[in-house]
Amino acid sequence: MTRPLQVMKFGGTSVGSAERIRGAAELVAAAARERDVVVVVSAMAGVTNALVDAANRAGRGDQNSWQELSTFLITKHHEALRALISDPARRERIRAELDGIVEEAANRCRGVAWLGELTPRVLDSISGVGERLSSRLVAGTLVELGVPASALEATDFLITDDVHGNAQPLEAETRERAQAVLLPRARSGAVPVVTGFIGASKSGVTTTLGRGGSDYSATILGAAIDADDIVIWTDVDGVLTADPRLVPEASLLEHISYNEAAELAFFGAKVLHPSTLHPVRRRGIPVWIRNSFAPNRRGTVISPNGNPSQDCTKAVTAMRGVTLLTVGGPGIIGVPDVAAWTFAATAEARARILLITQASSQDDICFVVPSEDAGRTVEALRRRFLIGVRPVELDHIQVNDDVAIVAVVGDKMRGTPGIAGRVFSRLGREAVNLIAIAQGSSENNISFLVEARQMKTAVAAVHDELNLNQLAAPAPEPVAERSAKG
Ligand code: ADP
Ligand code: ASP
Ligand code: MG
Repeated sequence: MTRPLQVMKFGGTSVGSAERIRGAAELVAAAARERDVVVVVSAMAGVTNALVDAANRAGRGDQNSWQELSTFLITKHHEALRALISDPARRERIRAELDGIVEEAANRCRGVAWLGELTPRVLDSISGVGERLSSRLVAGTLVELGVPASALEATDFLITDDVHGNAQPLEAETRERAQAVLLPRARSGAVPVVTGFIGASKSGVTTTLGRGGSDYSATILGAAIDADDIVIWTDVDGVLTADPRLVPEASLLEHISYNEAAELAFFGAKVLHPSTLHPVRRRGIPVWIRNSFAPNRRGTVISPNGNPSQDCTKAVTAMRGVTLLTVGGPGIIGVPDVAAWTFAATAEARARILLITQASSQDDICFVVPSEDAGRTVEALRRRFLIGVRPVELDHIQVNDDVAIVAVVGDKMRGTPGIAGRVFSRLGREAVNLIAIAQGSSENNISFLVEARQMKTAVAAVHDELNLNQLAAPAPEPVAERSAKG
């Protein structure tokens, strides 16, 4: 009889030091006694930031960044290697692999500095190196614990489009490759330890799935090999009613639906990459979020319908690093094509639109995009409007990046009157200035825009007003049989 198949993903802090890597490997060893396991790993905490930073500095012509990067990566990974791998031959083999990968990254960075230009494609080839390093350490540690394991590069089977920095998986190609390459490895009894975050385009060029993308790797691969469940091991107890950094008393949500989790992730709950739930939707695979620092706790389970008995609002999220673009003004009143031009421009810029409102008739459309998409969106808007409107009237694109989105999420908000009223009256009492408001017809979220400086106040006020703590499940009970929970 085939054993259950589980994908276990470990985030950056969960593999952030030798001690954390050993802890992660012990969790894998325990799971592997009862099931076939695929491990997906992030880079060690801080490594992706260092890679991105070094690449950007090199792109500005900094000739030192590649050397500093090399020293940082070697020091960090050698230290972990020494602590984790005692077998001399194994240690030497892994050290050689790590050094080769670091040298490759440093050489790329040096090339970038020499040219003084960083393309998105080259950035992906540098920023994805952290996962290639951590996967070797995790696989080696498993072998030290007596669990057969090997590191695999997701570029061999996670196939994406070629949108560097924010690639999307190609489902059919990934499924075919993962079933051919990854699944037989997992079923062979040796644990594959796969690089999160990275994939490859059809022509074999390395791509990345966007920051925080290892969650997405886990669900893409889980769906591709028909895993029975996916466990995302992180540094908090699960999905909470708010980001604990903003609301320290936020409590655990034991059971939420795919829709709720997707909305929370979309609106900035960093615990999940925004696209994490897409791949598993059709197959209904449960996704657990659990704390690698407290593995005896149950965590959150995300399932197709959540817990129907837990009604109403679930959580509040906040998102900084966004920019409000307002298209409007006297020059274009009554011009019927404004909405079409606006969204043709955002499509051309491949901007991710987070929220849209239209103030009155056609003369004022506001929308919010991640700040990194704002510059090219504005350029695309200017190009479009230049064709349609006289240049003299081109003063109607306003840009404001001093804003934050706050979103209130819950499937059962639909059909529960009064939530918006309570939220907005309370924000009024707290003197929070609302810049724009949006509620989709699905009614499972209300999102609004506030000044960045008022974000924390707004989140805390909404959390308190809607009694999210009381509505959430009580503090998690330790589970006696960890393996029974995922
Ligand atoms: P990992 O490295 O494991 O992927 P992340 O840092 O990406 O971890 O995500 C976990 C962090 O997400 C938590 O430490 C927490 O600060 C943040 N977070 C934001 N919103 C939420 C939420 N609603 N529930 C839980 N964590 C949240
Ligand atoms: N290491 C990548 C990042 O820091 C991916 C991830 O951690 O999920 O964005
Ligand atoms: Mg993450």
